[in-house]
Amino acid sequence: MKAPNGIDEIKTFCNIVEWNSSGVVFNPSNWSTNNIILHELPLQMKVSGGGSTSFIHIHKNANLALHNVFEMIRADYPEVIPELIFSGSFVPRTKRGQSDISVHATGLAIDFNAEMFPFDHQVKQETDVILWFQNVIHCFRSCGWKWGGDFGDPMHFQFCTGY
Ligand SMILES: [Zn+2]
Repeated sequence: MKAPNGIDEIKTFCNIVEWNSSGVVFNPSNWSTNNIILHELPLQMKVSGGGSTSFIHIHKNANLALHNVFEMIRADYPEVIPELIFSGSFVPRTKRGQSDISVHATGLAIDFNAEMFPFDHQVKQETDVILWFQNVIHCFRSCGWKWGGDFGDPMHFQFCTGY
C-alpha cells in the first residue's frame, strides 16, 4: 500500500472534506466515528506518563500499514519492544500556529518516546538517534511510513508524504 502524497491525496485517502479552525473534521459528519478505529497492537506498549496499552487510535485506511510495522518489529527487532513508549496518535488539532489540519488530526500519525526527543532536540539524520530507535525507523520506512526526523520531529511517524 502506498502512502498518500500531498493534502489532496490525504483528504481522499482519509475521506476528509473540511475541518474547522480547531482541526476537527466536520464534513462529512460523524467522520471520526466512521474513520478512526482502535488498532490492536500485537504487543503491550508503555505509554508516556505511565501505564501501558495494546490499542492505538488510527485511521482505518492506515490500519494494515501499521499492522505490518508491528509485525516486523515483533519478528525482527523484539528487543526494541520494552523501549518503545507510545506518546500519542489521533488528536484533532491544526498544525502549530496554522489553520492547516495536523497529520495527527487525520489519524495518519503516531509519536513515540517523546521524553527522549525534547522539542529543540537536534536530530538531523537517522544516525543521530540511539541504535534501537534506528531499527524502529527502519521498520516504519520499510512499511511505507515517513519518519518525522526528516523534518525535525524525530518522535513522529506518518503514513503520508508531502505534507
Ligand atoms: Zn507527531
